[in-house]
Amino acid sequence: MRYLNDDQELMVDSVREFCEQEVAPVVMKVMEEDEVFPLDLIDRMWDLGLPTLNLPEEYGGLGESKTCQVAVVEEVAKVSPSLALAGTNTAVASLVARIGTKEQKDKYLPILLDRNPAAMAFTEPCAGSDAGGIQSTGVKDGDEWVLNGQKTFITAASSCKYILVDVRTHCTEKGGISAFLMPADTPGIKVGSIFKKLGMHGSDTGELFFEDVRVPEDAMIGKPDKGLHATLALLDEARISVAATAVGTSEAALDMAIDYIKNREAFYQPLSSFQGLQWYVGELKAKIEAARALVYQAAAEFDAGENINATAARAKLIATDVCCEVTRKAVQMCGGLGTMEDYGVERFYRDAKMFEIIEGTSEVLKIVSAREALR
Ligand SMILES: Cc1cc2nc3c(=O)[nH]c(=O)nc-3n(C[C@H](O)[C@H](O)[C@H](O)COP(=O)(O)OP(=O)(O)OC[C@H]3O[C@@H](n4cnc5c(N)ncnc54)[C@H](O)[C@@H]3O)c2cc1C
Repeated sequence: MRYLNDDQELMVDSVREFCEQEVAPVVMKVMEEDEVFPLDLIDRMWDLGLPTLNLPEEYGGLGESKTCQVAVVEEVAKVSPSLALAGTNTAVASLVARIGTKEQKDKYLPILLDRNPAAMAFTEPCAGSDAGGIQSTGVKDGDEWVLNGQKTFITAASSCKYILVDVRTHCTEKGGISAFLMPADTPGIKVGSIFKKLGMHGSDTGELFFEDVRVPEDAMIGKPDKGLHATLALLDEARISVAATAVGTSEAALDMAIDYIKNREAFYQPLSSFQGLQWYVGELKAKIEAARALVYQAAAEFDAGENINATAARAKLIATDVCCEVTRKAVQMCGGLGTMEDYGVERFYRDAKMFEIIEGTSEVLKIVSAREALR
């Protein structure tokens, strides 16, 4: 199945070249071992327009489709899943483009699209899956809002230039949450610990503290007390990117395993001649193709302006589950070498586990999928 036109294929080819030449050399040492977020590579990705790929041309984006963005994310993920997410992240700008007022679009989009990546700060120590259970507050004071609270597990906590944060603006059981966008250096915002993680090394994940942070009224994105709707819409889109990252990671891990079993001999023949391993390859390849089809379906529905809530959840649920299975079996197929850091396939195995948790756990995605099916 061909998902892209000729121009988009060319773009993906150039991204592949960039990843092979510039990303691959720094993955193991800089990102994996030193766990350093490679700001210079992110800068190069801005040069190539990757973080603005599917944003409106009138604000400096490339105006490409979600389908094309998915293909690019998948390509970057084959070399670095962390960079696939961090270096192509457009979710906040995309949300502003979709639900911001004309004034907010004119004010914020040129900034966000000018090398100012934005973090999404929703999770708190007391509330993750239950996004409506947050306790950070926003209180109106004259023509400003004053924000207080703590966020945790925030991607790009120390490297972002802007932050979209959810806070409670009313104490109601349902609703009562509003979303605010502000520069990361707004007085009162402090970066806390940056965590060491199982996988996705080289992406900074940490805490953010908000202490009497004052923002203007027009920093509120979406309707007052309806910020959770905005957040969930943003997560729908972000889930497509994680699913695409999972597909790229699966493909790369399986390719490494195939390469190994074709070249490794045991019992006087290549490992690939044993049916037990051929069945692994056949089954995993089929599952990757199925996951990819679902990811492209979600992207196509997004491009058509449809409600992607259930499809995006299903795409992420399946693609990340497949990724965990593929990477686990890829390590197995590579034997002892598969467990060695230098070989690289164990890195995909560790990253894959992260995908089942970020942007909504698999359990939460099943709830979303079932809700639509049972309606
Ligand atoms: C690397 C990384 C990056 C992240 N980046 C961001 C970010 O940029 N911004 C942000 O806001 N957050 C971010 N997160 C947070 C992430 O969204 C949450 O970790 C995730 O939503 C799960 O929330 P939790 O950790 O509080 O788990 P919990 O909500 O405590 O869940 C624990 C377990 O219970 C299960 N569970 C919960 N509710 C139910 C239910 N109703 N039915 C069945 N099972 C249930 C969950 O699926 C999970 O398995 C990141 C997390 C990680 C690990």
